[in-house]
Amino acid sequence: MSEIATNIAVKLIQRESITPDDGGCQNYIKTLLAPLGFVRTAVDAGGITNSIYSRQGELKGTLAFAGHTDVVPTGPVEKWAHAPFSGEIIDGILHGRGAQDMKGGIACWIAAVGKLCSEYTPLPTIQLLITSDEEGDSIDGTIRIIEHMQANGTLPDAAIVGEPSSFKHVGDTIRRGRRGVVQVKVTFHGKQGHSAYPQDADNAIHHAAPALARIAEINWGEPTEGFPPTSCQITNVNGGTGATNVIPGHCEALIDIRYNPGNNFDGIKSALEAACAGCDVTLEFDHSATAFSTADGPFLELVCNSIKSITGIKTVRDTGGGTSDGRFLAAAGVPVVELGTTNSTIHQVGECVAVRELATLTAIYTDIIENFEV
Ligand SMILES: [Zn+2]
Repeated sequence: MSEIATNIAVKLIQRESITPDDGGCQNYIKTLLAPLGFVRTAVDAGGITNSIYSRQGELKGTLAFAGHTDVVPTGPVEKWAHAPFSGEIIDGILHGRGAQDMKGGIACWIAAVGKLCSEYTPLPTIQLLITSDEEGDSIDGTIRIIEHMQANGTLPDAAIVGEPSSFKHVGDTIRRGRRGVVQVKVTFHGKQGHSAYPQDADNAIHHAAPALARIAEINWGEPTEGFPPTSCQITNVNGGTGATNVIPGHCEALIDIRYNPGNNFDGIKSALEAACAGCDVTLEFDHSATAFSTADGPFLELVCNSIKSITGIKTVRDTGGGTSDGRFLAAAGVPVVELGTTNSTIHQVGECVAVRELATLTAIYTDIIENFEV
């Protein structure tokens, strides 16, 4: 079983697929899945290759695996001890770009499904949602797949995202949510003038300072359990001309907010607007990631139990790290858990994964699929 996952991972690594290029990976996946009864629906958009592979189940319910075939660039190739697209295995370590992030995870899921199909195990409907635009802008990737599924009423009941969630051992950590991100540029407007003639000017810094103090003191309320509280950091303040005797006509601040799922974008926007009330101000918001959280419940329990029964590990239900495509599934109301290989070399020169990890992850995925119920 581990050889199957490893062989698939090697073949995927050998297909050079630097974001947003798919490098033929999704077609290769099709050749593996078609004999198992999967049908591929292409949801390509804006030059991005996206696939929904679906196999009608014998049992009720639909379980999805979401992942990406694109990888980040290699960096200086001469610094790699093993060529980044060679997929060389040396002393039990598989080398290559994407080994952890996340061709390894895709290979394990395919191996798990292949094993269960070959044993004629009755299965729920299984989907693989694969994009080649996760490491890039993520504009035409998973989000387009979700839109397609919403339009066709084919959203899954739950999803595993194969991102490398683990730290030391496979399964030691899963991600059950992420904080959201809002970035804001605030420009306070006044009127520039001579500091000896304040009656003819309007000091933008004098408007900014109290407003920024109010922003720093916003009470974001009780955080959702299991998540860090919302953090609102004023990261830059710029105003003035550099001359002591000139009253500044503008003052600009940058604010970075990492928000707990107990908050939302609309609430954050109105809190900042209220803090700036009375000022002549322009607020520019960039809501780059929505917070999500998969609540405690049967799906989370299933994933944790499968990890426990295969590895003996009591997994940490983490909410840290950056953002991931899990947010798009969660926004569509799908319970999402990220579970994949270790992440010690992701995006680094010399990315690699231990072959035995792939065996463990395949066994965990197999157990999750076998025990999935709605
Ligand atoms: Zn990734």
